[in-house]
Amino acid sequence: MRDSRTTFPAVPTKNSSLLPHCIDLLFIYLKLPLAKEEIIMSQTYTLDELQQIVHNCQGCQLCRTRTNTVFGEGNPHASLMFIGEGPGRDEDMQGRPFVGRAGQLLDKMIAAMGLQRQQVYIGNIVKCRPPNNRTPLPDEAAACINFIKWQIYLVQPKVIVLLGATAAHYLLDDPRGIMRLRGNWLNYQGIPVMPTYHPAFLLRQESAKRDAWQDLQQVMARLVPEAQK
Ligand code: SF4
Repeated sequence: MRDSRTTFPAVPTKNSSLLPHCIDLLFIYLKLPLAKEEIIMSQTYTLDELQQIVHNCQGCQLCRTRTNTVFGEGNPHASLMFIGEGPGRDEDMQGRPFVGRAGQLLDKMIAAMGLQRQQVYIGNIVKCRPPNNRTPLPDEAAACINFIKWQIYLVQPKVIVLLGATAAHYLLDDPRGIMRLRGNWLNYQGIPVMPTYHPAFLLRQESAKRDAWQDLQQVMARLVPEAQK
């Protein structure tokens, strides 16, 4: 059984996914005992299994103050994935992402794109609420980041929308502010990524909604040809 305090195993990349299996085969061929690390490396997960692991996770200090873990939800084969920073008070209470006022605005943004919430997948960088809705600390994000990477790996979205700078910072290791990032296509493991404003920011800064809508229009334009591939 894996120690729940260690960082969750990284997602296999396109170039590395076969390597653990080759190592396994080599060890089997040589009749050597498999090292625990390699067994873990070659393991893959379903979304349900990941959700159960997150439910029991004590990988960082946020486990002590959470009410519920907030794994993420939506279409497991969604073309479009939204990734935010972390759960707030309402999300912590309900165990679901983006269900408070910011979530209601996100629902409207999704509807304006001609989609329904159930058609997309919604997740966060950290799965437990940071106290007082503060930004996740680097060690908390580092402990949690592989969960969202596994979710991306399993859902295989055509386009990812990052909501706010924190999501871009931790997923893409990009330290730039959201004003610089938004509206420009980035890339995660070959998947086009559009950073835009977090709905919580848009609630405070109405005038930024026009820019956010332009970003989402770029996403819509990108999704249509992707869907035809
Ligand atoms: Fe585990 Fe992530 Fe919650 Fe930390 S925030 S306890 S790493 S699920």
